[in-house]
Amino acid sequence: MQLPAPFKPTPASDAPALSTRAARALRAGWLSGGALLLMLAAIANLANAYQRSDGVQVQCVIEQHGERRVVPVEWLGHGESGDRHPALGGAAAVVRPDKDGWPVIYFDQVTVKGIREKDPHMLDFIFYHECAHATDPTRDEIDANCEAYLELDRLGMMNEPLERALAQTHRKMMRLPSRYGGSGAAFWDKTMACVSERRAQSRRPAGQNHE
Ligand SMILES: [Zn+2]
Repeated sequence: MQLPAPFKPTPASDAPALSTRAARALRAGWLSGGALLLMLAAIANLANAYQRSDGVQVQCVIEQHGERRVVPVEWLGHGESGDRHPALGGAAAVVRPDKDGWPVIYFDQVTVKGIREKDPHMLDFIFYHECAHATDPTRDEIDANCEAYLELDRLGMMNEPLERALAQTHRKMMRLPSRYGGSGAAFWDKTMACVSERRAQSRRPAGQNHE
């Protein structure tokens, strides 16, 4: 599966390693300003990790203007019903630029809580969908869904029952804005058409993509 190079949500396992190193430095008594910064960076990075349904902490890493950054993950609301955050407009998650134009992933705690209980794999799908937007803001909803599907497949987190569950969750959404295809069913059909097309492309030898 050929994914664009910047689309690489990386395991967050680097972060604890850094902080362990910093902690060791602290014990050894040679904690320099640099090491302290490193330690703070490691703590900040962990806060931006998303815990998948398989327990693995992942981060959405993007590249903009030649600079690599971890996309911050913010949780809005307190998880109480009726406490949905207006900024999300009823969505489970959105990507919004910060004041400098860097993307931030926002999750609505209320919506997410329900999804985590009923269909935790769907929440993983949503994380990769939002990461796909963050990686490339020109991606539309179908493309973002397509990327999320391919990424989960690449990670070995897709199989027939999981795909059926995702399809079902999508198809349950009766009416959706036109950018999602107008309905959950159309949204999912377009997603799967994109997945098939991308798979066909990756099977073709290089240079024959526009035959
Ligand atoms: Zn989206």
